[in-house]
Amino acid sequence: MIGSGRCLPQRESPLCVPGVTWADPPKIVAMKILISNDDGYQAPGIVALYEALKGLAEVEVVAPEHNNSAKSNALSLHSPLYVHTAYNGFRYVNGTPADCVHIALTGLLGYRPDLVVSGINNGANMGDDTIYSGTVGAAMEGYLFGVPAIAFSQTEKGWAHLEDAGQMAARLVSQLLPSLENGPPADPWLLNVNIPNRPMTELRGFKVARLGRRHAAEQVISQTNPRGDTMYWIGSAGKAKDDAEGTDFHASLQGYATITPLKVDLTDHDRLAYWAPTAASLSNAAAEPAATGGATS
Ligand code: MN
Repeated sequence: MIGSGRCLPQRESPLCVPGVTWADPPKIVAMKILISNDDGYQAPGIVALYEALKGLAEVEVVAPEHNNSAKSNALSLHSPLYVHTAYNGFRYVNGTPADCVHIALTGLLGYRPDLVVSGINNGANMGDDTIYSGTVGAAMEGYLFGVPAIAFSQTEKGWAHLEDAGQMAARLVSQLLPSLENGPPADPWLLNVNIPNRPMTELRGFKVARLGRRHAAEQVISQTNPRGDTMYWIGSAGKAKDDAEGTDFHASLQGYATITPLKVDLTDHDRLAYWAPTAASLSNAAAEPAATGGATS
C-alpha cells in the first residue's frame, strides 16, 4: 500500500517512498554539462576536457566534424545538418560550433544542460581573438540561450600539458557547479578562460583579466596553384598591442589561467551622444509627426 511519503526530486520517473519524508531532500540528480569546441570532435583538447569533467556531472559532447576555428557565431542556414555518433559516444555534426550548441539546445539533447563548456582550444583566444573564435562562439551560443557557459583555450598551440589544462578546467567548473544546482541564474554568465601551457606545478592559479588588444592581422599570403590560379591564405593573427597589466595577455604570461567575463552587447555606449547630432542632421523632417495640431474637438 502506498503511504504518504514525499517524492524525491528526480527529473525522470519520480520515486515516492511510502512513509518516509525528508526535511531537506538529497540532491540525487547529476548536473548536466554540454561540451563542444571548434577544433572538431577528434581534437585532443575536447577529449581532455571530457575526461576532466566526466566525474563532475553528466557530460555529453556535440562538436563539429571538422576543424571550424575562426567560425565565430556562424550558423548554417542553407544546408542541412547531420548528427553522427562516434565510437566513444561523442556526437559530431557537419556544421559550425554554434550549429552544434544550437541544435543541441533546441531539440537534440531533449533536456536543458546546466552548463555549456567549449574547448579546450588549440591556441590562445585572447583580446581580439574572441571576435573570431569558434571556441567562444560555441560557448556564446549557450549563453544566448540563457545557459551559463565557459570557453577554454590553451595559450599555445600543440597541446603541451593538456592534461594539466583539463585539471584547471575541472577545478573551475567544480567551483561553479554548486551555484547552478537550483536552476539557471537569473543573469547567466559567459567566461573566456585561457590556460598557459605549463605543468600544474608551474601554474599560479586563476586571475580575472580584461581582454587585451592585438595589432591588425599579418598580410595575406598569395600563392599559385598547380593550374595557375592565384590563391590567398589569411595571414596570422597580429601580435599583442595592449598587453598591459590587467589584460589576459599579461596575466597568462605571468603563469595564471585568465578568466574574462564576456558580454554580447557591442554598443559603444560612450559614443552614443557623439553620433546623435549626425543622426539628427540626417532626419527626414517630412516624416516627423506634427508637433502640435492633429485631432481637435
Ligand atoms: Mn580552434
